[in-house]
Amino acid sequence: MTINIKRIEAVTREGRLGSITGYTGTIKDLVKKAKTGCLKNKERCFSQATNCSSGCAQGYLARIMDSAIVNHGAKGCSADVIGENTNFLWGQNIRDLEKRNVNVINTNMTEETTVFGGLKKLRDAIWEAYRRFSPKAIFITTSCASAIIGDDVKSVADEIEAQINIPVVPVFCEGFRSKIWASGFDAAFHALLTRIVKPPKEKHPEIINMLTFNGSGRDYVAEILSNFGLVPKFGIPFSTIEDISKMSESAATMSICGTLGSYFGNGLEQKYGVPYIRSLQPHGIAGMDNWLRELGKVVGKVEEIEEYIKQEKEKIAPELEEIKEKLKGKTAVVGMGPSFSHNYIRVLGELGIKVIWGASWHFDQEYDHGSIPESTIELSEKEYDTPISVCDQQNFEILNLLNKLKPDLYLSRHPGTTVWPTKMGIPSVMVADEFSAFGYRGIIDLGYRIIDALANNNLALSLSKRVKLPYTSWWFQQDTFKFLEDEVK
Ligand code: SF4
Repeated sequence: MTINIKRIEAVTREGRLGSITGYTGTIKDLVKKAKTGCLKNKERCFSQATNCSSGCAQGYLARIMDSAIVNHGAKGCSADVIGENTNFLWGQNIRDLEKRNVNVINTNMTEETTVFGGLKKLRDAIWEAYRRFSPKAIFITTSCASAIIGDDVKSVADEIEAQINIPVVPVFCEGFRSKIWASGFDAAFHALLTRIVKPPKEKHPEIINMLTFNGSGRDYVAEILSNFGLVPKFGIPFSTIEDISKMSESAATMSICGTLGSYFGNGLEQKYGVPYIRSLQPHGIAGMDNWLRELGKVVGKVEEIEEYIKQEKEKIAPELEEIKEKLKGKTAVVGMGPSFSHNYIRVLGELGIKVIWGASWHFDQEYDHGSIPESTIELSEKEYDTPISVCDQQNFEILNLLNKLKPDLYLSRHPGTTVWPTKMGIPSVMVADEFSAFGYRGIIDLGYRIIDALANNNLALSLSKRVKLPYTSWWFQQDTFKFLEDEVK
């Protein structure tokens, strides 16, 4: 097992899962190399800005309803809070909750702090978070500065925890630890697994943990599971500390995303025997089929689930055929996180669109249960060998690629990479909501969204005539992977 719950911090994805951020080739080659242990990372001798794992950790934990975050770093390390707060307000809105901002305090480390130490600032901030928010738990997210000067965050956390009698939990997510920002999710989940989740007092065979990013599709998930006498327990965002503490009592854990769910799902299984459902993501038809079938095996509902799958597929079949007819012959480039990228390549195929390139922001050579990601394996078994690359959202590569391939559509999940293809005049769809294409109804909705984007591309075309791109014509003439160096250990 790759998860060591005796450690104070999660091992990074590079260290645990052999994850890489540099590769170009095809899906079959990627899997062959991963299977044989021959896949090595390729470094870039030039790279642009990318994300930081601290943002993933605190963005995820900040949306627990009754906790607080103390970010021990320079104030710039909390810049992500603007986005986290927007997500939090949006999530409260769709749940009809009274709105408030996230409970985050930054210790404002300065040059002087890095010379003389930041423990006083940290102490003051924890007490301020306790006074201001009356939380049920406080998470301290670390930063490059606090880690480099070696501030003993754990000692301060333990000292104050003994006085206020709530968990005060360090989350080791400083950006320089990992090139893969999803390591921040693991840091957050490690804190929850080791300090918040409690041993089960009783078991609830009807409750299924459902890990999400924002959870917009809660009603649809609840409706699906109700057919089998099951009830979802959504998390981690918008849960309470008590909700999370009881996740060890559920019958199984499912995730909307393989990248997100691997650590916590496998950790709950390892520590408390709660089975983690290992499957394709529940996007599109094959994804939902597989997700439900794997759940059925664990909860003993195989026949009911087969019947449900049959009925639901029959309901959407005529509409899906109409959509496929409209999208026939279209081509797409996909740029997303690894799990979403390899799942959405399959989903676009189900809509009749040929994916001529799939970029993913990193690639995990295995998940914490020891297998190559299920979606990657599934894709590699198809006849068509999809060209792919791995880059940590390096827009200079993506734009160069799009300029050469000229697809009908660019499908992405992050605004920072969708805006530039739009400015190039390429119809672009951003799948911000993780429940886009969720299941049998979701694929129909995504199909119409793509049809709309292709039917009216006037905004992108207007922008392309007026916006000067940040790259010169020289760069567009170069090999897309010019700055990707040879494989390194
Ligand atoms: S990379 Fe380091 S300095 Fe930059 S935001 Fe992340 S933690 Fe802060």
